[in-house]
Amino acid sequence: MAEQFDVVVIGAGPAGYHAAIRAAQLGLKTACIDAALGKDGKPALGGTCLRVGCIPSKALLDSSRQYWNMSHVFDQHGISYKDAKIDVEKMVGRKDAIVKQFTGGIAQLFKANKVTAYYGFGQLQAGNVVKVKQHDGTEVELKGTNVIIAAGSDSIELPFAKFDGETIVDNVGALDFAETPKRLAVIGAGVIGLELGSVWKRLGAEVTILEAMPDFLAAADAEVAKLAAREFKKQGLDIKLNAKVSKTEITGKGKKKEVVVTYNDAEGEKTLTVDKLLVAVGRRAATNGLLADGAGVQVNERGQIVVDEHCHTGVDGVWAVGDCVRGPMLAHKGFEEGIAVAELIAGLPGHVNFDTIPWVIYTEPELAWVGKTEAQLKAEGIPYKAGSFPFAANGRAVAMVEPAGFVKVLAHAETDRVLGMHLVGANVSELVHEGVLTMEFSGSADDLARICHAHPSLSEVIHDAAMAVGKRAIHKAN
Ligand SMILES: Cc1cc2nc3c(=O)[nH]c(=O)nc-3n(C[C@H](O)[C@H](O)[C@H](O)COP(=O)(O)OP(=O)(O)OC[C@H]3O[C@@H](n4cnc5c(N)ncnc54)[C@H](O)[C@@H]3O)c2cc1C
Repeated sequence: MAEQFDVVVIGAGPAGYHAAIRAAQLGLKTACIDAALGKDGKPALGGTCLRVGCIPSKALLDSSRQYWNMSHVFDQHGISYKDAKIDVEKMVGRKDAIVKQFTGGIAQLFKANKVTAYYGFGQLQAGNVVKVKQHDGTEVELKGTNVIIAAGSDSIELPFAKFDGETIVDNVGALDFAETPKRLAVIGAGVIGLELGSVWKRLGAEVTILEAMPDFLAAADAEVAKLAAREFKKQGLDIKLNAKVSKTEITGKGKKKEVVVTYNDAEGEKTLTVDKLLVAVGRRAATNGLLADGAGVQVNERGQIVVDEHCHTGVDGVWAVGDCVRGPMLAHKGFEEGIAVAELIAGLPGHVNFDTIPWVIYTEPELAWVGKTEAQLKAEGIPYKAGSFPFAANGRAVAMVEPAGFVKVLAHAETDRVLGMHLVGANVSELVHEGVLTMEFSGSADDLARICHAHPSLSEVIHDAAMAVGKRAIHKAN
């Protein structure tokens, strides 16, 4: 006999745990199932984000940035040192401790909110029943008046570059190298490739990024992408565009193992020999084995669960959120969908504004944006005005030895309403939220320009860029 719940959530990643906790807060009897195990072999909640994604990558980015700054920035402050060394094992250990703290934190939040956790693999059957194969070998059935699928995503594997967990790896392996590889190749110049490529570059690896597309970071504003490419080149990241990998071969044994990567570019076929290969060509919805025959939920040609704008699957009481459905594969997009669905179930007006989801790449400099790019506005025939301002003219940025980058504000040519904000520079992962707030409140560039910003602060760059939209920036010629 299946145990009855108001809400059964499959997956305790960002989308699932937000849905479960919000549902429980709203008085709904809630269960959440997750199959994942941590490095110690014990159940670990929090999904890709907490175990092998957002948080561990930021931990390593931070450690490697401190190390890089020692040899590239400290001298300008008059600080000298002798024999800088990086203890990779200790750095990875710090990352693991952070992961443990946060995955354990979700278990505590479940307890505090009375969400019943089930540890094992869930499969949706007909009639909103979820069959759970638990790690201890037993099986339970849970019936949900509502079921929220939050199964997330897995790395895409290339048929000619199969993961072996040691030499050819995905994000999981690249977050756990035992030592800095001498030569690292990355397939894919997307967010994950650039962030993890940066980590190992800063620690001394020779990093080559092979990208099949002709344009670098095509989703970003073209000027932002251009500046970022220039800065990455200065740091020694070798990014080859139009480079299509066709074959990989592992040679040698033990410590002498190498990967020979064959790729084609405009000049023809080439090979590259490296010690480690990171494949970061994207992620695919994790729907394998998730849906039993008769469950009724549709999956599209990309493997994503088909949902409407409210994350409803079309099957009575069955919803899906996060990376396993359409839209950007971002943790915070999943957070908002999880909360919105829990609220809709409880009869509240849950809603996600997909037009104001911020994007961030945590490289050096950071990239961030919200809303439309100039290319999108042009393609859509929307008249716009642009104002930009460089960090090099901002006192705080220069004092921090972070002069690279700029902020660009795009506003409607007639109404002045902000339509997009594009940032590249120091701490723009935080600054982008001025753009998000302005757009959420339907604010104008003039609103932003008239808001008092603390001096000296990096946020003044946004203020000046907003003023530049009206050709009245104080700290640069208009
Ligand atoms: C290296 C890396 C860095 C990233 N950095 C960022 C970042 O900085 N910012 C950002 O916004 N995003 C980042 N992301 C993306 C982010 O991690 C995902 O968008 C986010 O985790 C998706 O959340 P989710 O809840 O939909 O799925 P997931 O986090 O994938 O969680 C799904 C969970 O469901 C479980 N599950 C799946 N199927 C079943 C089943 N049938 N039964 C039981 N359990 C199941 C899985 O084990 C998993 O724990 C990064 C990703 C990677 C790989």
